[in-house]
Amino acid sequence: ATPVGLLAGTGRASQLGILIRGPEVLEDSRTVDTIVLDKTGTVTEGRMRLTQVVPLPDGRDDGDAHGAFVRENVESPDAFVRDNVESPSAFVRENVGSVPAAPLPDDGTRPRHDAHRALTPAQAALLTLAAAVEHGSEHPIAKAIVEGAAEHGLQLPAVEDFASSAGGGVSGRVVFDDQAQAESAPDVAGQQTAGQGTAAPASQQVAVGRGDLILQHVTRPFSPEAEARFSAAEESGSTAVWVAVDGELAGFVAVQDTVKESSAAAIADLKAMGLRPMLVTGDNAAVAQAVAAEVGIDPEDVVAGVRPEAKVEVVRSLQGEGAVVGMVGDGVNDAPALALADVGIAMGSGTDVAREAAAITVMGSDLRQVVQSLELSRKTLGVIR
Ligand code: ADP
Ligand code: MG
Repeated sequence: ATPVGLLAGTGRASQLGILIRGPEVLEDSRTVDTIVLDKTGTVTEGRMRLTQVVPLPDGRDDGDAHGAFVRENVESPDAFVRDNVESPSAFVRENVGSVPAAPLPDDGTRPRHDAHRALTPAQAALLTLAAAVEHGSEHPIAKAIVEGAAEHGLQLPAVEDFASSAGGGVSGRVVFDDQAQAESAPDVAGQQTAGQGTAAPASQQVAVGRGDLILQHVTRPFSPEAEARFSAAEESGSTAVWVAVDGELAGFVAVQDTVKESSAAAIADLKAMGLRPMLVTGDNAAVAQAVAAEVGIDPEDVVAGVRPEAKVEVVRSLQGEGAVVGMVGDGVNDAPALALADVGIAMGSGTDVAREAAAITVMGSDLRQVVQSLELSRKTLGVIR
């Protein structure tokens, strides 16, 4: 029979906005000693913003390739060409710059196309292709890229053969539906197609995602310069994703998430309870460490670059070492780990799949409710003893 104290505990929990699958969950929660936290959407807001658009012309002569786009989109094409294209080194300098992290204020005093002008033609080209393909994805990275393109006033062409690889990225064929669109279109792969009277491409094959996925879409390895710029973006705390166009690396875009206001306090509380908080993420190590440092998770307790299907392996191996694991997550990716953990805790702000896999669901998105549910389990058992 279920002790009365435990039933009372589940009742108290629901008053706090904490849904507990059954009274026995409170007993399990009491023995937990390790709390594995998903990063995106659990410790962080999970709402990313576009921070950088970095075309990597990689030594090609971009003058002709971008001619049509420049004529169509730049207010003074002559000045642009004079300043940027005749000197390849100046062109590279100009085009690998960053886009301001904050959107331009939409206060009515600034016409919409100003936002567009903040991008160089090469950046606009790259962002258009990346956003067109990401339009088919629900991932926070994809949303940030699509929103960034919209803020810059970019029109997104249609995409065929869209494919998405969980924890890897997306690909598809970007189709320009008429000749005019094709001629003003980005030609980031540097092919001899735009301008010069040659036929414009009807479509371009585009992939966006992590390095291992993109390497399957390009004919040669990334240049050391490209790798260095990508790493610099990651070290600044951004999540960068590569963009390949027609078999060539075209550049990368970077997005940034923000840590939830409540996360650091919640993690301090977990530590005060004698628990070991850990961070697990598919994101890169630099971003993961930056987030861990911000919220007070020890550097050695960060597991980064984890494939979605491998989060469950992280839980399994901790259990193999004798840990009693509480797993906190919000995503579809987290569901198997939530189910395997000794106690799975889903954020109410997350996906249905995560909630269904978890023993506990906290309403909303505040990690302090995770702390409350663990405190409650300790108090409840204290009462019935
Ligand atoms: P997390 O565990 O932090 O929620 P995911 O497992 O969802 O991260 O994704 C891991 C990595 O896969 C991302 O950091 C990114 O490099 C890549 N990725 C996943 N989805 C996409 C996408 N739609 N576009 C580009 N890259 C993606
Ligand atoms: Mg998540």
